[in-house]
Amino acid sequence: MATREFPLERTRNIGIMAHIDAGKTTTTERILYYTGKIHKIGETHDGASQMDFMDQEKERGITIQSAATTAIWHGFHEQWKETPYRVNIIDTPGHVDFTIEVERSLRVLDGAIAVLDAAAGVEPQTETVWRQATTYEVPRLVFVNKMDKLGADFQMSVDSLKDRLDVNAKAIQWPIGAEDDFAAVIDLVQREAWYPDDKLGTEWEKRPIPDDLKDLVEEKREELIEAVADVDDQLMEKYLGEEAISVADLKAAIRRATLALKFYPVLAGSAYKDKGVQLMLDAVVDYLPSPLEVRPYTATDPDTDKEVDLMADDAKPFAALAFKIMTDPYVGRLTFIRVYTGTLKSGSYVQNTTKGTRERVGRLLQMHAITRTEIDEVFSGDIAAAIGLKATSTGDSLTSVDHPLILESMDFPDPVIQMA
Ligand code: GDP
Repeated sequence: MATREFPLERTRNIGIMAHIDAGKTTTTERILYYTGKIHKIGETHDGASQMDFMDQEKERGITIQSAATTAIWHGFHEQWKETPYRVNIIDTPGHVDFTIEVERSLRVLDGAIAVLDAAAGVEPQTETVWRQATTYEVPRLVFVNKMDKLGADFQMSVDSLKDRLDVNAKAIQWPIGAEDDFAAVIDLVQREAWYPDDKLGTEWEKRPIPDDLKDLVEEKREELIEAVADVDDQLMEKYLGEEAISVADLKAAIRRATLALKFYPVLAGSAYKDKGVQLMLDAVVDYLPSPLEVRPYTATDPDTDKEVDLMADDAKPFAALAFKIMTDPYVGRLTFIRVYTGTLKSGSYVQNTTKGTRERVGRLLQMHAITRTEIDEVFSGDIAAAIGLKATSTGDSLTSVDHPLILESMDFPDPVIQMA
């Protein structure tokens, strides 16, 4: 058996959702740029400049078109250099017309980033995708993008989450300046101000919080602590007991509250100006769930008609969902699968329990921003593209031949609230 390179705790399956034009594409590209530049899997470092990278991205055109892209994140705050995280970015169509597609992707991701335009706050399509994500119990971060844009208003954007969606959302970061003066991002949890250098924000410098913002930072940090304590007993106990709340306490409480869908951390930045995206990736790791922390996917055992929970576990029989079929000019038909339990080796047989057919998986691929790697085995909690599955369609359950299961059907019982 191949060994698992990334333990489940260091895996994140996320989607990016937004109202059209808020910056979903730009944000995704920047994530792939930062993660791809730092870690080029299967490639020797060729000293490619940023422009080369972007040209390659365009040429291959797989960044945004791929149903799922695997990114390796080594951490911005430097703490994970030796123990990187695997962040699978699942493409989430952002427009109301593709509601079914949005729902399908929401089934296979574990957490999401909602991107807002800082000059607009919550917009109609944000409301639609937000409610869908709530139906599917997807924990979320909010990235207030375009802080550099004319009319950018971070406070208004944070407030719009309460006003339009009625959710407990508070800033965990604060921007320094807005519009042309947008200069840096303050991490309210760690009380650190991060300034990008002039190389398109590829390097950042940590500086003291400016004197004129110190009071504001304390006020916003207090608001954050109160909002999290309101929904988290452990933090509330410390807060009421007037005990010291450490950075680690606060981070852990934000994580618990976010995973419980009782709190939504709000971040500030500009994808276009390369400010804030790296801090956002750290927040993905800090506050969004690993496959071990999500509500279990359920399946039915066709022999007994009993429901079983599918918690990520390599030792269990294989069970996966085919969530997207794409045709690729190089390799043909690609079936993107999310593995819930067990593992799948290339060349092995799977049972398509939706169609009642048995199929052989040829090669298995992992898609990266500028490369794709062939893998021998895909593990539970992960996402891969399988080649060779001719009869499988989107939404089909694929399981071990010896342990057939029928995964929860795509028709979710709760109605999806449509835009008015
Ligand atoms: P999507 O429709 O959500 O995928 O949005 P895009 O990423 O395509 O962005 C829409 C437009 O906003 C494009 O013209 C981007 O260049 C621009 N844009 C994206 N991010 C920013 C930003 O941070 N600041 C500014 N000023 N413009 C941005």
